[in-house]
Amino acid sequence: MKKYLNSFKQIVGAQNMITDPFDLKPLNQDWQRFYQGKSELAVTPTSSKMVSEILQFCNQNNIKVVPQGGNTSFVGGATPVQDELILSLRKMNNILEFDTTTSIVTAESGVILQSMNDYLQTYRYQMPWDLGARGSCQLGGNIATNAGGLNVVRNGPLRNYILGLEVVLPNGKILDLLNKNRKDNTGTDLKQLFIGSEGTLGIITKANVLCAPIPEQRQVFFLELKGFDEAIQLLRSAKQFEQLGAFEFMEGRILQRCLPFNPQLKAPFEFKADKYYVLIEICGQQIELEYYFERLLKHTEQIVFNQNESELQAMWRWRESVPENLHKMGHVLTYDLSIPPDKFEWFAEEIYPERKGPYNAFYGHLGDGNIHYNIIFESVEEMHKEQERVEDKIIKLTKSLNGSISAEHGVGQLKRHYMEIQKGKETFGYMQELKRVFDPNNILNPEKLL
Ligand SMILES: Cc1cc2nc3c(=O)[nH]c(=O)nc-3n(C[C@H](O)[C@H](O)[C@H](O)COP(=O)(O)OP(=O)(O)OC[C@H]3O[C@@H](n4cnc5c(N)ncnc54)[C@H](O)[C@@H]3O)c2cc1C
Repeated sequence: MKKYLNSFKQIVGAQNMITDPFDLKPLNQDWQRFYQGKSELAVTPTSSKMVSEILQFCNQNNIKVVPQGGNTSFVGGATPVQDELILSLRKMNNILEFDTTTSIVTAESGVILQSMNDYLQTYRYQMPWDLGARGSCQLGGNIATNAGGLNVVRNGPLRNYILGLEVVLPNGKILDLLNKNRKDNTGTDLKQLFIGSEGTLGIITKANVLCAPIPEQRQVFFLELKGFDEAIQLLRSAKQFEQLGAFEFMEGRILQRCLPFNPQLKAPFEFKADKYYVLIEICGQQIELEYYFERLLKHTEQIVFNQNESELQAMWRWRESVPENLHKMGHVLTYDLSIPPDKFEWFAEEIYPERKGPYNAFYGHLGDGNIHYNIIFESVEEMHKEQERVEDKIIKLTKSLNGSISAEHGVGQLKRHYMEIQKGKETFGYMQELKRVFDPNNILNPEKLL
């Protein structure tokens, strides 16, 4: 890379280059610290034109490139495998326009999700997706991973809300797919190819997003349940609620283990190891508290609901703190799967039957069939020893349930080797063919996804 430093300086300027190993360190490492890249250079372009010039130069010189957003990927998607150039979108962080008639926001791809929401709040709108990484993850990273999150049960997947994109292709061409029409039936919808393509086909530089109104009211219920079957019965009832905003599941024994890590946070219950907990959010213009309370009461007598905004935030915090707390409990193998909701508990037990030593922990978006399944080990050696065996079992069992090995986190480096099993030879072949069309020299995010 050293021999190209001057060329990059001419394209982006010294102020948009990171070469100091200390500053590069966090960019070379993924959020979970599973992956370590060896990149010697990161560039932080400030315009689509600059991105275009960088890619054109890289394509001509066969320099591999990793697009990086907020670097919160759970699958090593934004971490270099070798010494690829890191192309960080962090400085392309302008919100360009909000159209109050159509409720469409147009922004550059480096805007942080929380900043999008802060901006939209003035108009009483919000982004239609939400995730725990909202303080760091970026618009472009969210689109490149077709991020899921906490309210898919209400709004559906992210791709429903992306109306237009600007994408820079590996050869440097700027593809203008920007669009503010809700309806556009003019043939193949090319932008869909880039949503969820994890930076392997092009770099997303701008987007038009259809925003969602901020609900007038939000009400959170926290329920304690005797068993997992009760959670499924509850889900069947809750699916009938027109105002269902979220349906999240947690195990009591895991919440108990989270207690020491959340000393400031008031627990809605005294969590019990043999119980199960569900967080339900109801949102809408007007919420009839009694209506929901009565219906939920049929499933359990242990219900707490928030009285004010800070209690609402605290209840959500219990759910949102689970992933980070698991990492404080030990070394975690973590999987993000779609399987039928009623199979969650059975699945966890099948993969790693409870015994002394490592233990499994599952939680997640029960409302849309997305389980976050984890096994926690005391030592990193033990974890690595078990990883391959566990993963083989997970892939086979998920496949046999017609599920997906990646519900929302993407494939990245972590699940790449299982793509052919997941997709089938033929479909996977067409995906690779498509990659060759857009990126014949394979410079964009090599050794990820495909
Ligand atoms: C605490 C926490 C909670 C999370 N919760 C959820 C959750 O509920 N649901 C969920 O889906 N995910 C979740 N994630 C995972 C992660 O936040 C998402 O995958 C997110 O969408 C990644 O955004 P990012 O900007 O950090 O992208 P990065 O991690 O930087 O990149 C992700 C992928 O997108 C590519 N990419 C990034 N920017 C661009 C661009 N502009 N153009 C093209 N390619 C690009 C990268 O190369 C990489 O392949 C969570 C992560 C954390 C740390």
